[in-house]
Amino acid sequence: MQISLTETAAELKAHERIVLTAHVNPDGDAIGSSLGLMHALKALGKEVQVFIDDDIPAAFSVLPGYELIGKPEEGQNIPADLLVAVDVSLDRIGRVNEAVKAPTLNIDHHITNDGKADKLYLDGNAAATAEIIYQLIEELGAPCTQEMAMCLYTGLAMDTGWFRFSNTTPNTMRVAAALLACGAQPHVISEALEQRPFAEVQSLAFALQKIELLAGGKVAGICLDHASLQEHEAPEGLIGMVRVIEGVDIAFTLKEKEPGLCRVSLRSKGVDVTKIALQFGGGGHVRAAGCTIEKPCAEARIELVKAIMQVLEETA
Ligand code: 5GP
Ligand code: MN
Repeated sequence: MQISLTETAAELKAHERIVLTAHVNPDGDAIGSSLGLMHALKALGKEVQVFIDDDIPAAFSVLPGYELIGKPEEGQNIPADLLVAVDVSLDRIGRVNEAVKAPTLNIDHHITNDGKADKLYLDGNAAATAEIIYQLIEELGAPCTQEMAMCLYTGLAMDTGWFRFSNTTPNTMRVAAALLACGAQPHVISEALEQRPFAEVQSLAFALQKIELLAGGKVAGICLDHASLQEHEAPEGLIGMVRVIEGVDIAFTLKEKEPGLCRVSLRSKGVDVTKIALQFGGGGHVRAAGCTIEKPCAEARIELVKAIMQVLEETA
C-alpha cells in the first residue's frame, strides 16, 4: 500500500525496535540514506540497527556510523518491530528478508519499485532516496546534525553524479544547501569517495581497450568476462566513462562477477533503459538502470545487445 510522507513519519514514530536495510551491492545513496535515517531515529530515542547483506566498501568509512552497519549471518534472527528498506524493493535485500520477521516499510525513488512491502513511500521525482529521507527527517522533527548531513549529502551527490545528472532538481539543490548548513563537508566526502586503489586505476586502462561501439555509434559498452576480472579488478564508475562518448545514447557495462553470472549497468541520454533492465528482471531509473543476467559473458552480451537494439528501434 502506498502511503504519504506524513504517514511514513507516523509509522516510524509508532515503532521502537527498527531495523534499516538497503540493497545488496550498496551505493552511496543506499548507505547514506540508511545511516542518515539511523542518526535521526536514534536522536528520537529509537532502538535502531542497520543491516546490509553485503560488504560495505571501506571508502564509505568517511560516513559517521559506518562501523555500525551489520551483515546478517546465515540463520540469524534479528528481533525488530519494523523493517525499513530504503532505496530498494524487498527483492534486493538478500538475507535481511529472512533474518527480520517484522512488518515492512519501504522508502524509495525507483519507478520500478515492485510495491510488495506492507507500506511504501515512493517518490520517483526525488533524485536520491537521501532527498526523501531529508524531508522525512523534517517531518519527524528530528534535529539536523552534522553526522546525518554527511550521510545524506553523500547519497544525494552520488545519485546525481555530483549534481550533474538530469535528476538534479531545484529541490535537490535546496536539500543539499540545507545539508551544508547542517555541517556536511562536500570536499571531505568527495576526496574519500573518489579515491581509487592504484591497481584499480591501472585496470581502467585494460577495461577501456575493450570498449565497443554499436548501432552506428549510438550504443557503446564494455564486457569483462570472469577470466579478465580475475586478473584485473573491475574499476568502479567504468560506466561513466562509456557514457561520455560523443554520439552515444545508451552505454552499458557487463561484468561476469562469477562464472555464468553477469552484472549489467545501463545509462542513457534519453532512451528509457528500464525497458531493457526489466526484461532481465532488473530495474532502476529512466537514465540509469541495472540487472543481472545468469549466463556466461558471451551469451549474456548477445542477449543484452539484442534487447538494447530492440528498445533503440522502438524509440527511434
Ligand atoms: P548501477 O548501474 O549503478 O548498479 O545501477 C543503476 C540504477 O539501477 C540504480 O538506481 C540501481 O539501484 C538500479 N539497479 C541496478 N541493478 C538493479 C537490479 O538488478 N534490479 C533493480 N530493481 N534495480 C537495479
Ligand atoms: Mn538511489
